[in-house]
Amino acid sequence: MLHRFEAPVLYGVVGLSTSDGKCLESSMSSFEDYMRCAYGWTGTLVARAPSWLTDVIETASAHSAEMTLGDIEGRFCTSLVQSCGACPLVLVACKPDHLLERAARKEFEGTERAKFEGTERAKPEWGATKGYLAVVYHLREYVVWHEALHLLDAEDCYDETGRAVSECDDPDCLMRFGTTKKTCLCSPNRKRIEKTLRCIGNRGLGNEEEF
Ligand SMILES: [Zn+2]
Ligand SMILES: [Zn+2]
Repeated sequence: MLHRFEAPVLYGVVGLSTSDGKCLESSMSSFEDYMRCAYGWTGTLVARAPSWLTDVIETASAHSAEMTLGDIEGRFCTSLVQSCGACPLVLVACKPDHLLERAARKEFEGTERAKFEGTERAKPEWGATKGYLAVVYHLREYVVWHEALHLLDAEDCYDETGRAVSECDDPDCLMRFGTTKKTCLCSPNRKRIEKTLRCIGNRGLGNEEEF
C-alpha cells in the first residue's frame, strides 16, 4: 500500500533540543517561501517528518559505526519503500558528534573533498546530502537551504580546493563554498531546481507514482 506523505520534502531533528527544532522549522518554512517566490511553486513543499520516520533514520544510523551516509541512505530508502511503497526526501539536523555526522564524514573519506575539508579554512563542516537524505550538523539557515537544495538536485559550485567552478555565474550562489547569502543560485542550478520541481509537481504529493 502506498503511503501518502504530507509533503515531498520532510524535515526533523535527531537528538536535538526543541529550540533547535524551531530553528530548523523556521529555516525550512523560509525555504518553502523562497521556492514559491522564485520558482512559482504552489502548494506544500516541506513538512515536519513524523517521529516514526526520524526513528527509521536513527535506527539505520545505529546499525554499524562503520557505515557511510550512503549506507544509511540505502537502508533508510529500502525500509521506507518496503513499509510505505515510497521514499520521501528527508532533511535531518543532528548534533556534530552524532553517528549521522560521522557517517557523512566517512562518505567523503579519502576524497579530495575530505582533504580540503580537513584544512583549517574549511572548518567547520556543515552538512552533507546523499540521495534522499540530507544531514545538517551545523544548524544555520543557509546550511539548511544549501542541503535542501541538494535534495532538489542542486550541485556544489566549488572544486576540491573550495574555489568556485567556472559554470557558476553568480558570485553569491548558495552552492558555492562558504556563501551565506540565501536567495541566490547560479543559472545551471536554477535549471536543475526547476526541472526537479516540475517532476515533483507532475507526480503529485507523496511521490506516489514514482516508485
Ligand atoms: Zn554542498
Ligand atoms: Zn552556483
